Amino acid sequence: MLYRLKTDFRLSIITLLAISAILGISPFAVMRFAQGNMLAGVVDLTIMLSITAGMVYAWVTGDTARSGFFMAVVACGGAVTVGAVVGEPGLFWLYPCLVTSFFLTEPRYAIFINLTAVVALMVHGVAFSSPVQMWSFAATAVVVSCCSYAFAHHNENQRERLEHLATIDPLTGVKNRRSMDEELAMAIASAARTGISYGLVLLDIDHFKKINDEHGHSVGDDVLTEMVVLIEQNIRKSDQLFRFGGEEFVLLMSGVDQTGLRAVMHNLQHIMHKFLKHPGGKVTASFGVALLKVGESPDDWLARADQALYKAKAGGRDQIVYADELIAPEPAAETA
Ligand code: GH3
Ligand code: MG
Ligand code: MG
Repeated sequence: MLYRLKTDFRLSIITLLAISAILGISPFAVMRFAQGNMLAGVVDLTIMLSITAGMVYAWVTGDTARSGFFMAVVACGGAVTVGAVVGEPGLFWLYPCLVTSFFLTEPRYAIFINLTAVVALMVHGVAFSSPVQMWSFAATAVVVSCCSYAFAHHNENQRERLEHLATIDPLTGVKNRRSMDEELAMAIASAARTGISYGLVLLDIDHFKKINDEHGHSVGDDVLTEMVVLIEQNIRKSDQLFRFGGEEFVLLMSGVDQTGLRAVMHNLQHIMHKFLKHPGGKVTASFGVALLKVGESPDDWLARADQALYKAKAGGRDQIVYADELIAPEPAAETA
């Protein structure tokens, strides 16, 4: 639970807003019911219940985009309703809502929600004691919204940059091993849920050290980037390539069976034979391929692909070895 709060910024804002709303609004709800102002009490209660429901939805489904938008609407809409029912206090409640809306939902929605809330209060007019107060409110609400937008925008940019640095390999531009761990876990969960089959390929360039030693490190780098471009041009959009480390890559494919996997691998090897070169000649690679088994862990899945890769290397390199064949060789094709 703490981990989710730490890693999911929007979820933490949703939770903070919900807890603040419950703690901040409940005394007013009680007071309004006690004073016999039933309408204001019901408004407060409705806001609290809606915000709580939004928070529970976010925690249960993980869909913070939808619940964040819902909570921004409820919070700003609630403040406007309080302004319309009890007057001036609604203005004060609107300010924190204007700020948090930029952290709860996308900027374009937040701008729309904030503008609508401010204009609605101004058109209704009851919350203001004079035109000067109304226009001061409008000006300060716009200033608060602009500052929040600038801060939220900067924050989002930083988050995206950090995420990029943490998940992308700087040389080749493909996802790194850290992202791979997450994607493998997600693939296993998806396979258990939907029955979709997944294939994993562990690819290791043959004698790469020799390429570096004979032609220099930058030629080695070029081989890595050219190979990534070549592979990405010849796989489906849904397939994912990761740099496992050094000159080793992992290719994760969804919706492939044994036959499909063989066709893809045959094609990849053919393409690499044809197009992947360095100044001294051809560049080849060895492949270990494993289809995901039911109930298998990411480590076991990778280990089977690794064993297959080891066999491909031991067998002379420039080969594709399928993990299934290591355990039970395929029966020979029947003759007519
Ligand atoms: P094998 O056929 O058994 O796989 O032999 P190999 O030479 O490919 O494997 P080895 O593990 O002996 O060497 C891998 C080399 O890859 C060693 C390392 O210097 C090099 N390497 C790792 N990362 C990079 C990189 O980012 N750029 C370049 N140019 N070389 C790299
Ligand atoms: Mg290696
Ligand atoms: Mg190698």
